[in-house]
Amino acid sequence: MLQTILHQLMPNRCLWCDLPVHQAGQQVCSCCQQALPGFDIVFYQGNLLWLPAVQQGLPKLHAERLVSLSWYQPPYDYAISQWKLQQQLAAGHWLLQQFRLLAQQYQAAGFPLPDCICYIPMPPWRYLKRGFNQARLLAEVLAKTWQIPMLPLLQRQRSGQHQRLLKRSQRQHNSRQLFQLNAVFRMQLKQLGQIALVDDVITTGSTLQQACRCLQQGGAKPVQLWTLAITAKDRRQGSLP
Ligand SMILES: [Zn+2]
Repeated sequence: MLQTILHQLMPNRCLWCDLPVHQAGQQVCSCCQQALPGFDIVFYQGNLLWLPAVQQGLPKLHAERLVSLSWYQPPYDYAISQWKLQQQLAAGHWLLQQFRLLAQQYQAAGFPLPDCICYIPMPPWRYLKRGFNQARLLAEVLAKTWQIPMLPLLQRQRSGQHQRLLKRSQRQHNSRQLFQLNAVFRMQLKQLGQIALVDDVITTGSTLQQACRCLQQGGAKPVQLWTLAITAKDRRQGSLP
């Protein structure tokens, strides 16, 4: 009630068009919400790996399925950048809302739900700087929406670990291994069933590819990948957040 009164007195601005938003609790006006670009989850049967444009852009991604809101394009690119780089919580709140809607649409369409959720861990220095891991917050949305456990299955390898003592070939191999399995779950991976792995954006797919390989080498089945946006092959130019 109080929130509604406050909203009537001081409506917030739409993240996309900057006009006042008429519904309390919404970050984007109803016109912009209806005009949002994105993938149609029913059209692609809950798996973007069916789409040739996605397959061509991410040829090394060995996963069971891939689900995402959209290509990395307006307004998602702006909102993601505002959330991650400017710590604009309103943008993050809107993205989490969109991700929840996607999870609800996926479930309503009857596509197979995973048995547990995990996320791409963030390097500790970046976490200290940013104060949150957006991949973890997105994973929590899936876990809460489907009432499925979220487990920290992956850990970042400690960077610079005895690098100076390694030969060149060993160093290259070591630098390629971004992740290791969390020792707590190492013996249980085969019993966990299907895992949904969450990250915010897929650019080249190399981070998710390494995370998938780490899980599968530990005995996990091919995973579901969930992400906010995918960078198309011909749009991978310039800097990304
Ligand atoms: Zn708008």
